[in-house]
Amino acid sequence: MKRGPVSAGPSVADIPKRRDALLVLDVDEVILEFIEPFSRLLGEYGAKLHPESFRLTGNVRSISTGTALSGSELDRITEQLYQEQEHRQPLVSGVAEALSRLGEVADILFLTAMTPAYYGKRRALLDGHGLDHPMIATERSKGAVVAQLAERWLGPIVFVDDLPPNLAAVRQRVDRVRLMHLMANEVFRDHLPPLPSGAVSAANWHEGQNIVLDWLRIDASS
Ligand SMILES: [Mg+2]
Repeated sequence: MKRGPVSAGPSVADIPKRRDALLVLDVDEVILEFIEPFSRLLGEYGAKLHPESFRLTGNVRSISTGTALSGSELDRITEQLYQEQEHRQPLVSGVAEALSRLGEVADILFLTAMTPAYYGKRRALLDGHGLDHPMIATERSKGAVVAQLAERWLGPIVFVDDLPPNLAAVRQRVDRVRLMHLMANEVFRDHLPPLPSGAVSAANWHEGQNIVLDWLRIDASS
């Protein structure tokens, strides 16, 4: 029997609503570094990432034989990274400062596609940095989740993710959401697929914070 998508964290209806504006943030490569610690872990397995296209599968090869690691080998290494994330995944540069400013004007929600079984570890890691905003870890489409959120937050909504397909999935479901692309690591920048219409790329959180503040100002007054 096939199981349905799994989620961990509060349901959309239970998330406290304090402001009209909402900021929905992916976690890996937006809040926590992923590519850099993943590459370091690959090194422990004698493998290396060769960012020749915008994907991991096929681009990770054994240093000694040159053979590409299989999808299931990469999945296992990803699970280990999530299992050990408290020691392996540092905050993205500038994110704490940006969220402390943005949290003054918008509700903040973390929306991660990380395996929901590691919810507790990620919650503890973020809380330890003072980032105690609610988090949903889910296998559902981010578009479906943001569509539900948009029924409760009627003011400006901004969605931030490093993966263009996630930005596109949200655009498809909720036309009025502002989309920002932010990817902490630079190795994939030359291979970034096209962004959906209206999406803007931020090189870092300093730039990202200013983009979001501008959007919130414009949309709150329209
Ligand atoms: Mg991500």
